[in-house]
Amino acid sequence: MSPKPLVDTSPEISDEIKKTTCYMCACRCGINVHLRGGKIRYIEGNRDHPVNQGVLCAKGSAGIMQHYSPARLQSPMKRVGPRGSGQFEPISWDQALQLATDWLAPIRETDPKKLAFFTGRDQSQALTGWWAQQFGTPNFAAHGGFCSVNMAAGGIYTLGGAFWEFGSPDWDLTKLFVLFGVAEDHDSNPIKIGLGKLKGRGARVISVNPVQTGYAGISDDWFGVTPGTDGLLILSLIRELMRAGKIDIDYLARYTNAPWLVIRNPGKANDGLFLRDDAGTPMVLDRDSGKAVAHDKAGVRVALHGEAKVEGGGTAAPVFMLMSESWLDEAYAPEAVSDTVGITPDRIRQFAADLAEAAFAEEVVIDQPWTDWKGEKHDKMIGRPVSMHAMRGISAHSNGFQTCRALHVLQLLLGSVEAPGGFRFKPPYPKPPHAHPKPAGRPDQVAAGSPLGGAPLGYVLGPEDLIIDDDGAPQRIDKAYSWDAPMSAHGMMHMVISNAAAGDPYPVDVLFMYMANMAWNSSMNTRGVMEMLTETDPQTGEYKIPKIIYSDAYSSEMVAYADLILPDTTYLERHDAISLLDRPICEADGVADAIRWPVVEPDRDVRGFQSVLLDLGARLGLPGMVNDDGSPKFKDYGDYIVNHQRKPGVGPLAGFRGGTGTAQGRGEPNPAQLDAYIENGAFWHADIPAEARYFKQANAAYQNFAVEMGFYDAPQPYLFQIYSEVLQKFRLAAEGHGPQQPPAHLKERIHRCFTPLPSWYAPFEGSAVDGDAFPLHALTQRPMAMYHSWGSQNAWLRQIHGHNPMFVSAKLAAMHDLVEGDWIWVTSHHGKIRVPVAVMEGVNDHTIWTWNAIGKRKGAWQLDADAPEAKKGFLLNHLIHELLPAKGDGMRWSNSDPVTGQAAWFDLRVRIEKAGADEPAEAWPQFDTLPRMNGAGRPGAVLRYGMEWTKNGKGNAS
Ligand code: SF4
Repeated sequence: MSPKPLVDTSPEISDEIKKTTCYMCACRCGINVHLRGGKIRYIEGNRDHPVNQGVLCAKGSAGIMQHYSPARLQSPMKRVGPRGSGQFEPISWDQALQLATDWLAPIRETDPKKLAFFTGRDQSQALTGWWAQQFGTPNFAAHGGFCSVNMAAGGIYTLGGAFWEFGSPDWDLTKLFVLFGVAEDHDSNPIKIGLGKLKGRGARVISVNPVQTGYAGISDDWFGVTPGTDGLLILSLIRELMRAGKIDIDYLARYTNAPWLVIRNPGKANDGLFLRDDAGTPMVLDRDSGKAVAHDKAGVRVALHGEAKVEGGGTAAPVFMLMSESWLDEAYAPEAVSDTVGITPDRIRQFAADLAEAAFAEEVVIDQPWTDWKGEKHDKMIGRPVSMHAMRGISAHSNGFQTCRALHVLQLLLGSVEAPGGFRFKPPYPKPPHAHPKPAGRPDQVAAGSPLGGAPLGYVLGPEDLIIDDDGAPQRIDKAYSWDAPMSAHGMMHMVISNAAAGDPYPVDVLFMYMANMAWNSSMNTRGVMEMLTETDPQTGEYKIPKIIYSDAYSSEMVAYADLILPDTTYLERHDAISLLDRPICEADGVADAIRWPVVEPDRDVRGFQSVLLDLGARLGLPGMVNDDGSPKFKDYGDYIVNHQRKPGVGPLAGFRGGTGTAQGRGEPNPAQLDAYIENGAFWHADIPAEARYFKQANAAYQNFAVEMGFYDAPQPYLFQIYSEVLQKFRLAAEGHGPQQPPAHLKERIHRCFTPLPSWYAPFEGSAVDGDAFPLHALTQRPMAMYHSWGSQNAWLRQIHGHNPMFVSAKLAAMHDLVEGDWIWVTSHHGKIRVPVAVMEGVNDHTIWTWNAIGKRKGAWQLDADAPEAKKGFLLNHLIHELLPAKGDGMRWSNSDPVTGQAAWFDLRVRIEKAGADEPAEAWPQFDTLPRMNGAGRPGAVLRYGMEWTKNGKGNAS
């Protein structure tokens, strides 16, 4: 008899491995889910996957605890007690969908904009946005408006793309990498892999962040900038580089609008616009003839200095001259900005010198011929090996849009965008604003019983594209694309509930939300939002927001405030498309998309939200969701993913298309497409041809490749927009030109903030409060191990961050006699909170900070009322209001960027004081304990997976 093997490998007990896509953060890595007996055993990274190449983070491996979370909702529910009480009764799916249909059908037949449909960390916006469009409401957006729309919009309007999903550093060739801010749940594993490469070959990493944590912790140089002043620091760097002549003139002339002629005609309607020829093409000065000619004329040698006379009055000068006039100003000298930004003049100068050294002394050359959009042939690709990355840190300010633009201009001056060693786009980017749809929602685009006259979100190109009526009044419930925030490309989700409760600009009938914890960590002024959600009309006693439908997989704080709950599955139980139509996972050298699919079947009465949405659409008879006979067009989301076509041959997934499953990009639907993805590890990937990999915005081979893939219908090369004519058009309107003009109270602000060249102004909240009363800045950061409020109910991840202290600098701690574990009061113009303290060195002396979204309301997420997340965890949100303090004129302005409407979370100003020795060591404020939601799981449900659920909800190994 042979000896028994040490490891039993018999097929009966071997793991079954199913490959899918992680959803524990926004990064979307490939994962291998190991199952035994139909239960998940563990999760590992997929080594073949283009995003993570096998790397798995703490969140990703803790997906097992997300999947088996006791907080999972169990069945559809209908509210039976007062809103906010958490009293529900389980109902069937038929009842739930009938109720939703009964609420929504009359709205669609009378006034579709009475539906406000907003989603949170939704990864299916191509579907949800299309659904809103087919319903006919302009009131749709996802969470971008309160996250990083400044980064996205600043990038699109300047470069035709931004960081993260739009592009990435050239990790293999860059020699200096600069991180501004950075939320560590964005592009998480790729950045870790990239940083590993840089560190492995000794490349330099600079971090600009008020706090030295996470990626900043391994930087070679840390600049602890004062919050909200990054833009000023960047403009000072620009000044130093321009003064030293350390800018890439050839690159600026070839690839940017630096040579384009701008009309100077002060006070007139064409002041600041580009000089255009009869065909409308912007013009440049031809160095040879001295004449203004179309910028795209073959063989023209452009001038960066000079002047042209403008017919009808005024002159025109190249953008480059305006750049020099603006940015060589003494106001941007290191000495002038040093106190404000919190960095010494010498360090600013050295920073600029380091950028110049890396860019110009260490040029990168790739021996690859290519042809540009004018047909000019190049025998090699030359690059500047400086790359940058930024996210919410620089964007969540009221000056964030201009700061993001300034950062992109700094990259352009160094010649390091889409060049070897620099920042590189990921397909389908680059895509300039004019290649995106314009938003729909004007009165002539909304009609009873009809789809909206276009997509609800897009990019405006001037005041004529605003979503306003003839009197200039906002037409969206969040007032996006109005004069309040003209370029709000992602909507303004943080204004929806307050506007809906106030009936301003109009009341809505149904608020429909998905995965957005608006009654807690996703809202400013959390207590106020809870009150708005329960506010009634004193005359009728009815709720001011009459009906709330909410879909979530977990019993988050928001669940208690809904009237109808549509329980979602976990990410391992449903189909998803990580689509090129939406938020793709491409890399700079390749095109990729991916799927999720049910690797386990739900053991509860839950359904994937996307399938539910399609079912609801069919019940409502929405175009595209029903057949001619009125029957549902799609069986479920999986069926939609395979068979929906956005235009002929282009669907949610680009891989394995066509009858034989071999077409890529464009091709007829393939019934076996999902099987092909599953076979391939749940993703598809195609290499970009070598000659098309750099200078994509100007590269003829890339443009042709993009057309073949279906990104564009025709090549559309373009130049980077250092000078934004779009911004200038809004400024001209504020000066009184054109048919659409802002209301009087907004004119000065628009004129000041919409500068066509990036500028810096002080964050609004700091200017509106007394600086002596509120001397400190307060921030949140996203920990690497957490992803919004989901993570802090996960049994494994809670053991990493069970509560969140307020971090203060050692200097500040000494000033206030604080040691680790003390409690302090933190006060803003809006409210106060009591929180525990931790002391650290690596933080700007004028800044305090904490981890975001760890604090929980007692009883929510099935956690015990004594859970540390509820007793010691807290939210900074209680200190932040969606409106700025009242001004002398009685107006209260939105606490947002005036260009995009981005929520200005990080403008918060506070003071601190030590809590009394007799005060309880418990976070304040506290709210009524939420009951366990009917139908949600019970503690103990995870016992069989080797964890025992303890009283405080932490998992202990059994
Ligand atoms: S980085 Fe995000 S997507 Fe990737 S494994 Fe971690 S949690 Fe999952």
